[in-house]
Amino acid sequence: MALFLKILEKGDRLDEVVMVDLGDEYQATYDTLLYAASICLKEKIKFTVLSIPETEEYRKLKAVTGTDLGMFEFMVFAHKKQNGCKGYGWCGKRRWGTAIKRQLLNNYYQSLERFVIEYVGIAADEVQRIDIKPHKNYAKSYPLIKWGMTEEDCLKYCYQHGVQWWQSGIRLYDILDRVSCQHCQQKNLKELRNIKKYLPELWESFKQWQEIISFPYRSDGSTIHDLEKRFDCEVMQISLFDVGLETSIEVEAIK
Ligand code: SF4
Repeated sequence: MALFLKILEKGDRLDEVVMVDLGDEYQATYDTLLYAASICLKEKIKFTVLSIPETEEYRKLKAVTGTDLGMFEFMVFAHKKQNGCKGYGWCGKRRWGTAIKRQLLNNYYQSLERFVIEYVGIAADEVQRIDIKPHKNYAKSYPLIKWGMTEEDCLKYCYQHGVQWWQSGIRLYDILDRVSCQHCQQKNLKELRNIKKYLPELWESFKQWQEIISFPYRSDGSTIHDLEKRFDCEVMQISLFDVGLETSIEVEAIK
């Protein structure tokens, strides 16, 4: 969003905005993209949404079971893999969703039949993420790095422009380091704790997903259910400590 707003502010050329919607975004992300789409409409910039196309396997399952799974969830739980097992499970350590995203973008660029310059929103303090590989039909450009805008600068800039990712009464960047896919396996303990506390419905869905996915959420072997117990214990310990603290303060006062 910072890259998009800054390009517009500088009056640089922007022909099209392409969003890849894997189907597991936060509501706040969809709201933000709607805002971006409205700006594109006003500025006469093409706005394109790419999503995972339905496969024959998915259509068959739908015809038989009437499933209302989206394609992302279908890949998580039901897609039959080459080894015969069902579902890719959590995405984040094995980044199968990222591979799909790259493939969708690449197919789209190849379909345009002209050379494309892709502006990528990698910030000045994450240069290790840039991709210098040559690509057929397109090249990547990293304007945020050229402008020296760090991740923190970008967030500040978005906030100043009224883009704050509000959801359920909180700003997502106040509780998350990154607003990625909702069920991304790359979330750290702080983010997971905050999701349990501030986005309880999402936490419930994490538990439901874990019941179906055959491997644990974390690479140390912890499942979402283990994490739930851990976080509940932490809350109990904190409240016991609070009671202890209050009692000792009262004793002090009586003395
Ligand atoms: S954000 Fe996470 S879940 Fe989404 S595609 Fe990337 S690695 Fe996968």
